[in-house]
Amino acid sequence: MKAEIIAIGSELTDGAKLDTNTQWLSQQLTDLGVTVHFHTTVADDLGENVDVLRTAVERADIVLVTGGLGPTLDDLTRQAMAALVDADLTLHEPSLAVIREMFASRSREMPQRNDVQAMFPQGSEPLPNPVGTAPGIWLEVPRGDDRPPAWIAAMPGVPSEMHRMFEYEVKPRLPVSAKVIHRARLNCFGLGESHTEQILGDLTARGNDPEVGITASEATITLRITARGDTEQQCVEKIQIASEAAQQLLGHYIFGTEDEDLQHAVVRMLIEAGQTVASVESGTGGLLSHRLTDVPGFEVCYVGGLILPTESSQRRELELSAELFQEHGAISEAIASELASRCRLRLGTDYAIAITSDRGRGALTDPSQPAAYVAVAAASDVRVMPVLRLGDWTMHRSRTVKTALNLLRLELLGLETIRS
Ligand code: AMP
Ligand code: MG
Repeated sequence: MKAEIIAIGSELTDGAKLDTNTQWLSQQLTDLGVTVHFHTTVADDLGENVDVLRTAVERADIVLVTGGLGPTLDDLTRQAMAALVDADLTLHEPSLAVIREMFASRSREMPQRNDVQAMFPQGSEPLPNPVGTAPGIWLEVPRGDDRPPAWIAAMPGVPSEMHRMFEYEVKPRLPVSAKVIHRARLNCFGLGESHTEQILGDLTARGNDPEVGITASEATITLRITARGDTEQQCVEKIQIASEAAQQLLGHYIFGTEDEDLQHAVVRMLIEAGQTVASVESGTGGLLSHRLTDVPGFEVCYVGGLILPTESSQRRELELSAELFQEHGAISEAIASELASRCRLRLGTDYAIAITSDRGRGALTDPSQPAAYVAVAAASDVRVMPVLRLGDWTMHRSRTVKTALNLLRLELLGLETIRS
């Protein structure tokens, strides 16, 4: 069962408006186990709308259309659907009555143009829209060569109206299988996408059941496991087997599941160990502190953070010497290490995390030169790690904070620091 989504509107093709409906519809179909193979966006042009519909019903079994159902002259979805199957547009009296009623209930006169919203291609079925004026259209399109018909569901472009119509009118009509689908996510840090895939080997092969896909976001690698089965229990078991296999192969690189991020993992581990942490940051504007304080219950283990963006503030607040900066430079292993050690003593914690980063370094000058250093001080040692500049500043800053959190996680696990 293949699906295609068509977004209609010149405001989408000219860049004035972002097509969020296609993403939403794709997520809904994916959750139902229907694979979306095509996204098409087309301007308000009758001929072109007919063309894309014709292409869609040939290559997809389910075609979801959004937009172009309004009362204005540029809304042409109903005309395009009628042309596709060579049918006339006919008035559907009950729909007209509902639209009239909608205007009356708002004490407004119905403009003549709204009549068109009660016109439907002959043989189609109106999809009620109790939250707007435009009903949707459900149309079966016969295809030659003994193929089953394709289904087109046209819905309004207004996202809230479309969401409701999909949920209550379209979803129940979709010819989807009764299979149960379950999903799970495992989050990893410290490996690249291709390296992760290599380690996982056959586990990520296409067509596997359960399916294991890999995505990356700001250096966090997520394994997405999708299991299909006849019962919930079957899906749960399949996911458990795949998760255990991934765990065996990736070990400590996996830090959490579902929405759990590195800061959640670190806070959980610190609370379990009854230990505390403090932080000192330069070049990240307090992002590390922001993430730690986002975790419910952080107060138990996170004592506080210093934001020291300049050499002078670092020298003043943590008494770093001018010679140290002269000898090593502000972005250096020595400064990161010293910041972490002194922060730990100053705030009286078990651990301290330090970040020293600079917007002007790395990719902009010499990409082989670290753009940041992160350090974790414990009672007995200090770990330091360089961070190279990959991607833009926002991404670099996020990766740097994650690298710092991961360094503490490795310390808490008692594992060696591996420089990737
Ligand atoms: P329409 O049904 O084409 O009259 O669209 C009505 C309104 O819905 C438009 O003015 C847009 O603001 C919004 N809209 C239409 N299509 C989309 C889309 N694909 N994604 C997000 N918003 C949309
Ligand atoms: Mg439109």
